[in-house]
Amino acid sequence: MKLAFIGLGKMGSGMARNLLRAGHELTVYNRSREKSEALSGEGARVAASPAEACRNCEAALTMLSDDQAVEEVVGRPDGIASALDGGTHISCSTISTAMARRLAAAHASRGQGFASACVFGRPEAAEAGKLIVMAAGAPALIEHYRPVFDAIGRQTFIAGAEPWQANAAKLCGNFMIAAMLEAFGEAFATLRKAGVDPHTFLDAISALFGSPVYANYGRMIADQQFEPAGFALKLGYKDLRLVLETAQECDAPMPLASVIRDQMLSALAHGQGDQDWSSVARTAARDAAL
Ligand code: NAP
Repeated sequence: MKLAFIGLGKMGSGMARNLLRAGHELTVYNRSREKSEALSGEGARVAASPAEACRNCEAALTMLSDDQAVEEVVGRPDGIASALDGGTHISCSTISTAMARRLAAAHASRGQGFASACVFGRPEAAEAGKLIVMAAGAPALIEHYRPVFDAIGRQTFIAGAEPWQANAAKLCGNFMIAAMLEAFGEAFATLRKAGVDPHTFLDAISALFGSPVYANYGRMIADQQFEPAGFALKLGYKDLRLVLETAQECDAPMPLASVIRDQMLSALAHGQGDQDWSSVARTAARDAAL
């Protein structure tokens, strides 16, 4: 397929590379041009604006930081909406459910398609094409773009027929990972004070839960290795904020999410925004005077 890819950050670069490897014809745009140039050697055409990237493409994928970035890249005069002539915008960023609904309406009013295809997995998984894709949108559209999801991920789940439902599912998934990070932080702080080796504890917990997510994040926290960030804490804070907005829209209280949002806010206040989000564990350690 003829595709555009916009947003070549930690996640987007690997995702774009896998679309090229799968044989798709790709034009890329990134705000800082050097990240686009890195892909031009691998067969991507480099565009000077989002509109130029989208011209004559069937679908444009975006992998941008947050609501504000997506709104800007879609709506600016040389943005995606101005050039996606009957094509589809596939939004992969972790954005709010409200923004996904606004995008669906804006594209529909121009006769353009819109689907959400949020992803689980860190930059290494993006590079390896092993993300888990959480997609939602009109069933015919989702089926049509399955080859795109297959190129970036190892499994695709369909959250519903409304694009924002995928964003709700992604935000709830990140809430669960954040709950695990906070639980590790509290348990390790107590165990360090109890004189128990965190690595021994981690081995037992990994045997109990049997998940690479527990093993990998547990190791980062036990080793206190939070840099370089695979997923920046400032973006993790955004996701806790957004899951609470979705909870409010749905009249579904999430008291634990409120606590974790505040733990992340404390970490941000201590200057940890660019560290990995697993460094939220440092909040519990600080509270224990470690
Ligand atoms: P990142 O490395 O910080 O990349 C962010 C991208 O957005 C960059 O391409 C950046 O361009 C672009 N951008 C930001 N603001 C912009 C603006 N106003 N106009 C145009 N472009 C703008 O972030 P990431 O880790 O790849 O995450 C991207 C999205 O994926 C986020 O929504 C995040 O929550 C989600 N996500 C991340 C992970 C992970 O483990 N990292 C996993 C799943 C989902 P520049 O290069 O010019 O700065």
